Amino acid sequence: MKRTKIVATLGPASTAIEVLEEMILAGVNVCRINFSHGSYENVLTQINNVRAVNTKLNTHVAILADLQGPKLRIGVVENNGVELIVGNEIIITTKECTGNAQRVYITYPQFPKDVKAGENILIDDGKLLLRVIETNGIDEVKSVVVYGGTLSSKKGVNLPNTKVSLPCLTEKDLKDLDFALEQDVEWIGLSFVRSYHDIADLKQIIHTQKKLARVVAKIEKPEALLEIDKIIEISDAIMVARGDLGVELPMEQVPLVQKMLVRKCLASSTPIIIATQMMESMITNFAPTRAEVNDVANAVLDGADAVMLSGETSVGKYPVKVIEAMSRIIVNVETDESIYYKEQSSVSKNLTFVTDSICYNACIMAKHADVKAIVSMTNSGYTAFRIASQRPQAQIFIFTDNHSLLTTLNLLWGVQGFYYDKYESTDRTIAETLEILKSNHFIATDDLVINIMSMPMKERGRTNMLKLSQVK
Ligand code: PEP
Repeated sequence: MKRTKIVATLGPASTAIEVLEEMILAGVNVCRINFSHGSYENVLTQINNVRAVNTKLNTHVAILADLQGPKLRIGVVENNGVELIVGNEIIITTKECTGNAQRVYITYPQFPKDVKAGENILIDDGKLLLRVIETNGIDEVKSVVVYGGTLSSKKGVNLPNTKVSLPCLTEKDLKDLDFALEQDVEWIGLSFVRSYHDIADLKQIIHTQKKLARVVAKIEKPEALLEIDKIIEISDAIMVARGDLGVELPMEQVPLVQKMLVRKCLASSTPIIIATQMMESMITNFAPTRAEVNDVANAVLDGADAVMLSGETSVGKYPVKVIEAMSRIIVNVETDESIYYKEQSSVSKNLTFVTDSICYNACIMAKHADVKAIVSMTNSGYTAFRIASQRPQAQIFIFTDNHSLLTTLNLLWGVQGFYYDKYESTDRTIAETLEILKSNHFIATDDLVINIMSMPMKERGRTNMLKLSQVK
């Protein structure tokens, strides 16, 4: 079993249930639905298909609904593409029009107010660079082409130097969020997070709607890095959204930012996803480049919980082969001992100190006693987050009577979930959960295992007990 999880973005190439089933069998753990594209009708088909495959295969593949956030775009341009020549001037306008090489529409009404002379305008993932000459502060910004090329319709715009005054949750996001919550998706991703308040606002809406979806903060703006500790603390997971991050920041800074974010997330038991262009060439080719193989391998070695595919599985020619290739890379890299044992002892005697100590010591004990499995019962999922972030070499088996939690936990490194709903006695639960694992050949007679759980069971409190035993 691979320990690092795979997040696959769904799209036309992967909506069909037969393809989805093959992808899940090949190693997909979370399906991402990108709300930048696709109708609600398509999204609903995708969600229903994932859930149907889960029922058929008895898997717990989670759904991550990725909200677009304040993504800026240019409008439609003539002939679906015009050439921008270096040194020529071009007006960016907030009045809707069909664009050409002299004038183009931007989907950002406050742009002329927010931007200043000298600031950069990057278009199409940074392939084109314009520099602001002047703004009328109302509806037009005059700019000059610094790096030219073909400008096509509806391409994304990044403004790395501009303080964008748009809210993080746009009107479209609020509608998409309602739709996603109605479907009870397990994870909600928020794009272009700039402050921890953005995540707090999103969590408040989820809470008000009495839903349990957890939140992934997509890190792709320099502003987010300025308050990254607070963002990690409030978020349930982090995504290193390298596509936009590499445009908003000088791209050479992204590798160290990735490593810094993984380190911080491991220390705070926050799952982290490394995203974008991991196997990009497999959108059209049946095998990845050697550099892509190394990129996936390095993300696993850094300590990511999950690696993510975008175009490769949403519109690519090889949605199953790319998962097979990624799984093979992960399994190979996971033979390296360096990815395991990232225990962090808890220092502060806070509310969770007892549970944190149990989880920490379970992992230390597992290392010293060559334990095969750490088995936990969880009500909130907290123990799973805590154990997973210590990266034990022992397998992590999590039992709970909450179906939706089982699916949520599928994003976490190494976590394999099982449904179990008999909360009678500690002895009986330990015996039965071990029996389930043994009959499924996850553990065998004489293996050493650690059980951690809460006593007394019926109170469903925090984890406070650890037992080391040999499988009968
Ligand atoms: C990214 O920018 O890397 C990313 C994951 O965001 P999106 O695919 O939503 O543009």
